[in-house]
Amino acid sequence: MDLLEYQGKQLFARHGLKVSAGQAVGSVEEALGAAAQIGYPVVVKAQVLTGGRGKAGGVKLAGDEAELREHAHNILGMDIRGHVVHTLWIEHASDIAAEYYAAVLLDRPAKRPLVIFSVEGGVDIEQVAKASPEKVVRRHVDPLQGLSHEQALVIAREGGADADVLDGIADALVALYEVWAQEDATLAEINPLIVTPQREVQALDAKVSLDGNALFRHPENEGLSDVENEDPIERRAREQGVQYVKLDGDIGILGNGAGLVMSTLDVVAQAGGSPANFLDAGGGSDAQKISQAVQLILANEAVKAVLFNIFGGITRCDEVARGLIAAFEQITPNVPFVVRLDGTNDVEGRRLLQEAELPNVYTAKTMNEAAENVVALASGRGVGAPA
Ligand code: GDP
Ligand code: MN
Repeated sequence: MDLLEYQGKQLFARHGLKVSAGQAVGSVEEALGAAAQIGYPVVVKAQVLTGGRGKAGGVKLAGDEAELREHAHNILGMDIRGHVVHTLWIEHASDIAAEYYAAVLLDRPAKRPLVIFSVEGGVDIEQVAKASPEKVVRRHVDPLQGLSHEQALVIAREGGADADVLDGIADALVALYEVWAQEDATLAEINPLIVTPQREVQALDAKVSLDGNALFRHPENEGLSDVENEDPIERRAREQGVQYVKLDGDIGILGNGAGLVMSTLDVVAQAGGSPANFLDAGGGSDAQKISQAVQLILANEAVKAVLFNIFGGITRCDEVARGLIAAFEQITPNVPFVVRLDGTNDVEGRRLLQEAELPNVYTAKTMNEAAENVVALASGRGVGAPA
């Protein structure tokens, strides 16, 4: 779960990292009101889940009301690489003496947290890492010990931070590590981490990703998802407790269990099709859950055919069949369904489907057959008689 800059900064502030005072706003008038409280000069910053906003014109300094009005007006509604700006962050502008880079992330192969630090911060850290890798310090942290002030000092010194700010940088690194560890983040990045002319260290930007699976441990962070920019069907799915990810194709996929759904995506792709979504109905899928899932899949108008791939275990195939029949009572899909039932009560499930005589529903015995049929149906070719 990626956070907007201002949400990341709120987490930073909670852990003692210095950030500039600011307010999130949604209109030019609100921006003017915020700046009047914060005090000019201010920075107007597009809140979208993509980097390089500065280069795209989404970060502007405003010295007075007229400038703020102009920039806020221009940035609201701006499209930054496919992300439309609905929210601005207005913060008191900072004076910059140096721009550094700092990040904490999980190094999966090493199974350890990794601290990255460079005095060549600013906009293009990837460029620095490529052109002069010696300017980027990378150090692992023992997850049981955490990052000590001493180790952080060594990192700051190795990176070549100015001597008078070594302590300040080390404090910032320790605080950033705390954000990463205590908030269950997968990434906590500051670019730039600035040194002001008064030699204070401050986070000017924030990129934080939280582990969605650990969110239950942080009820206070639940409101942080980017609700405004979330796909509406994905939001509905989340609210219903269904695992749903929107993809770009035209074949709706439902399976039970993430592993089965992933292999279904592969088999459909192999048959020449393109999945429209990933939907895991989970174990023990009852009729109501199946009915909800069908409605979620059909809410995506790109879907031309749907594949149900159920391997019965805890989930009983007859329950799934009942769910499908119940769903068809509430909505009349205008796209064909291919249903593959295997495992617990599969015979009973197929019998129920046959008796219900659902229009446009085809059954298949194997996953390959199901995939080939659904791809044929999505492309407008027939596959013989319905179930
Ligand atoms: P990004 O382009 O999406 O990474 O957005 P940033 O928040 O990192 O801002 C981009 C650049 O704008 C920074 O590297 C700074 O050079 C500049 N900038 C942002 N805020 C301020 C500020 O308060 N004062 C000054 N002088 N420059 C700023
Ligand atoms: Mn940045």
